[in-house]
Amino acid sequence: MLEVRDLSKYFGGVRAVDGIDFSIRPGEVFGLIGPNGSGKSTTVNLVCGLYQPTGGQILFEGTDIAAVPTHQRLSLGLARTFQNIRLFANLTVWENLWMAENAPAHRAEAGFLRRWVGGRGNARHRIAEALEFSGLAHRAEDLAGSLAFGEQRRLELARALAAKPKLLLLDEPAAGMNAEEIAQLDERIRALQQQGYTILLIEHHMELVMAVTDRVCVLNFGRKIAEGTPAEVQADPAVREAYLGTSH
Ligand code: ADP
Ligand code: MG
Repeated sequence: MLEVRDLSKYFGGVRAVDGIDFSIRPGEVFGLIGPNGSGKSTTVNLVCGLYQPTGGQILFEGTDIAAVPTHQRLSLGLARTFQNIRLFANLTVWENLWMAENAPAHRAEAGFLRRWVGGRGNARHRIAEALEFSGLAHRAEDLAGSLAFGEQRRLELARALAAKPKLLLLDEPAAGMNAEEIAQLDERIRALQQQGYTILLIEHHMELVMAVTDRVCVLNFGRKIAEGTPAEVQADPAVREAYLGTSH
């Protein structure tokens, strides 16, 4: 589904991502972990096209997507959530999803009226489905800014799901969630895998990573230091060393 080859991103002298390789198989839940500042979010930003790589390749379903702009990557089937929640606080939950579906990039595709009445590719139906799945159907008419933090995280997830992506990139979806919310997230990730989604999961919450991922790639200072099953990476001395050297 996704193959990253010798991928790098430098910010001046900072090697945020420094020649990493990994590939994600269709239907897999793939974990990307590592201490703070190890290059996880930068990797997602490269895959989604927010950053141009300094070097290397990103293949999505076998095609190099280097030249594909961000909004077109969404149409290809790549959707993500943000580590720092990005919502329109003064729009309702439903409007936030509608905006995502009808971003300026799509304006040329169809007339305003058609979109308003039916939506792009049955957007209303997909939005309703995503809200239902994320447990936010009852909040559809409330302002996004009035949601509790965990609900805002779920709205981020709903927005990505409404695009019906093939590959879903989740950047620390459990951050700031309580134990009950994390248990629900665990169930949702499993349900999405059952439905056929492929998932890249960045997460600091190790119990969640160990419970839901099929394989895990570990970064440290922009480099890959381990890859394997959750049990394999957990037992890896290099991984233990990387984590013991930090607050984790
Ligand atoms: P992680 O998500 O693993 O915590 P990041 O990918 O956010 O790590 O950051 C990796 C490194 O790259 C850090 O040293 C960070 O400060 C740096 N970095 C990330 N984004 C930028 C940017 N836009 N400009 C400069 N440095 C950045
Ligand atoms: Mg990050």
